[in-house]
Amino acid sequence: MTSLFIILMGVQGSGKGVQASFIRQRYGGIPHVSTGDLFRAMRTRQDDFARQIQQIMAEGKLISDEITCKVVEERLALPDAQNGLIFDGFPRTIPQAEWLQQHLASKGQKIGAVLVMQLDLYDAFRRAFGRVSAASGESFNIYSNSAGIDWKWVDHPDAKSNANEAHPARLEAHLKSSGERLIRRLDDANAHAIIKRIDAYLAETKPLIPFYAAQGVVHEIDASQPIEAVSAAIQTVLDHAQRSA
Ligand code: AMP
Repeated sequence: MTSLFIILMGVQGSGKGVQASFIRQRYGGIPHVSTGDLFRAMRTRQDDFARQIQQIMAEGKLISDEITCKVVEERLALPDAQNGLIFDGFPRTIPQAEWLQQHLASKGQKIGAVLVMQLDLYDAFRRAFGRVSAASGESFNIYSNSAGIDWKWVDHPDAKSNANEAHPARLEAHLKSSGERLIRRLDDANAHAIIKRIDAYLAETKPLIPFYAAQGVVHEIDASQPIEAVSAAIQTVLDHAQRSA
């Protein structure tokens, strides 16, 4: 089997997680590696290094290129990564991209495709802001997937008149079938936090796209389509990348 190293880029809500599991299943079980997840996994560690990482993440800053590349290098050395890997959240800077290119080249490998999941940014905002989930993990959206739920905006108890930035209205949602109250993630309820995440994504990806476009490996995927259509578009790109590897 030819190896398949893929970079998955996309704003939050563009369906990277779902498509990564499709790719994993379709292309020989290659692992999905999110550097954010690798760093978050260090939360359980008590050493100074892990504590420093948590501090930087809590401030919303990027971990240094040196540390990030070291962590990726260790992950790439594991047996399951020898035939390929789906990078998610990495690289985020040009030095990281350059390091990855050299590191893969030293093993006779290269990036086969950079999949850029294109989603209108207003849609991205609504996918996060309108999301509510049941305890079972099933998720709904007041803007796009609300048939099974009852929902309404409720004025903040401290709001004098209309809701405002200091006292935004709260979203209350219940399952129609059982009446279960649905949960909204705290960072999804905060419009400012969502905008910040979208801005950070744009700022980080902007310089990387031309870097990879110069190598002819960038493929834009319309992430607004139904899941199956997005998977089919990805499959077309990856089958071609494998044939020309
Ligand atoms: P994510 O889940 O991808 O948004 O990552 C969460 C946090 O982990 C980021 O805000 C950074 O602090 C850190 N992080 C993840 N990936 C990288 C990377 N490639 N370079 C630097 N920091 C990263």
